Amino acid sequence: MKNTDEIWGGVDALGAAFCGFADRIWDTPELAYDEYRSVETQRDMLERNGFRVTRNLAGIPTSVMGEAGEGGPVIAFLGEFDALPGLSQQAGVASCNPMDGTSNGHACGHNLLGGGAMLAATALKNWMAEKGMPGRVRYYGCPAEEGGAAKTFMVRDGVFDDVDIALSWHPGSIMGPFYPASLANTRIDFTFLGRASHAAAAPHLGRSALDAAELMNIGANYLREHMPSSARVHYAYMDAGGQAPNVVQSRVTIRYLVRADDLRQLRELVERVRAIAQGATLMTETTVQERVVSAVSNLMGNLPLEDTLFANLTRLGPPVYAPEDYDFAREIQETLSAQDIRAAYLAAGVPPRDGSPLCEVIAPREFVPPPFGSTDVGDVSWAVPTVQAWGATCAIGTQLHSWQMTAQGKSGIAHKGMVHMAKVLAATGRDVLQDPVLLDRVKADHAQRLAQDPYVCPLPLDVMPPIGQG
Ligand SMILES: [Zn+2]
Repeated sequence: MKNTDEIWGGVDALGAAFCGFADRIWDTPELAYDEYRSVETQRDMLERNGFRVTRNLAGIPTSVMGEAGEGGPVIAFLGEFDALPGLSQQAGVASCNPMDGTSNGHACGHNLLGGGAMLAATALKNWMAEKGMPGRVRYYGCPAEEGGAAKTFMVRDGVFDDVDIALSWHPGSIMGPFYPASLANTRIDFTFLGRASHAAAAPHLGRSALDAAELMNIGANYLREHMPSSARVHYAYMDAGGQAPNVVQSRVTIRYLVRADDLRQLRELVERVRAIAQGATLMTETTVQERVVSAVSNLMGNLPLEDTLFANLTRLGPPVYAPEDYDFAREIQETLSAQDIRAAYLAAGVPPRDGSPLCEVIAPREFVPPPFGSTDVGDVSWAVPTVQAWGATCAIGTQLHSWQMTAQGKSGIAHKGMVHMAKVLAATGRDVLQDPVLLDRVKADHAQRLAQDPYVCPLPLDVMPPIGQG
């Protein structure tokens, strides 16, 4: 790691305080829209570091934003801090051992994501203040990334409207560019309504909502062969109509999660799923109601920003880990399969290598992986030119949403990977602030993409954040 830049020294000076901050978030793992203690910790850290704090963005009580500086441009750092259910785990322990007192765990590393993004924001605003540079730095503490799509609600509410660029990162095991290859998705609840009757005495008088749901699933399963290969359709029964097989079930709700490459394909695929639901009602003489629960957009890329971020990552080089970090990473790798480890390399476009359990290389710029899932950063990237990176905060092969990820969330590996990413983000923000020509190119790239495919928020206006429903 070549620690040459002044701003990187500024990140290092703040590093220990922000690692402690990320550890405190890890200590209070809270789920989507219920991050009340974590958002207080975030607010407190912003105020201690001299940010002007705004709460309750888009009417979401667990969101927070800190701003520093005056004038423009506005450089935004996106942070997250929600945890996952059922993934409680003791820190620094390489076997599955839940923590006492909670079943939640920071198994996606969002304690680090928020910590690293706020560290970058703080270092950049301190650097600007020293130089007397105009411009504003913002840290957005975005709750409910895990299935909650809070950023999509925030975009719909105009929270990012005056932002010039947005920067973020995600913890992982191999560092490199975060390719703009995520899927747009939406969750829709279909409720079938039929007529109850005695299933033996008067089955001919009943109309089964459960039959309709099952026929819808059969239709959707036949649809799979005839949809784009990267599209995904998943479903789960929310209410299967009760537990009495001697009743013809009159009301059944099934949740569909539909994913596609982009918003246009998503809209087309959702229409086909809706048609299948209608088909199921025709076959069963039932009716169907639907309710959109959430939606996110695919990530939009931005070439000038991606080039700038990658140049900083390459110039900085990989983080330097300590001998005890390698020892712990080896212990963690013993709990993973060879397939887990190989998959991590392949997903990043890096040839699998034996030996080091920690990432010592940077994934290539030109590799384009298949879409990996969905993120609500997608909607921000349509509203504002956005770029992200993958950080190396855990043993290679560690899966996101696993106890192993929680176990490493306060480790030396995690801390070094987080500080490293803060340097990459801070330097990228600095480059855009210093170079109006670069900012013009960033904006032109964004405008050109939007002209081809205008943004339509995938969330209907009447869908509200599910606050207090956890
Ligand atoms: Zn995540």
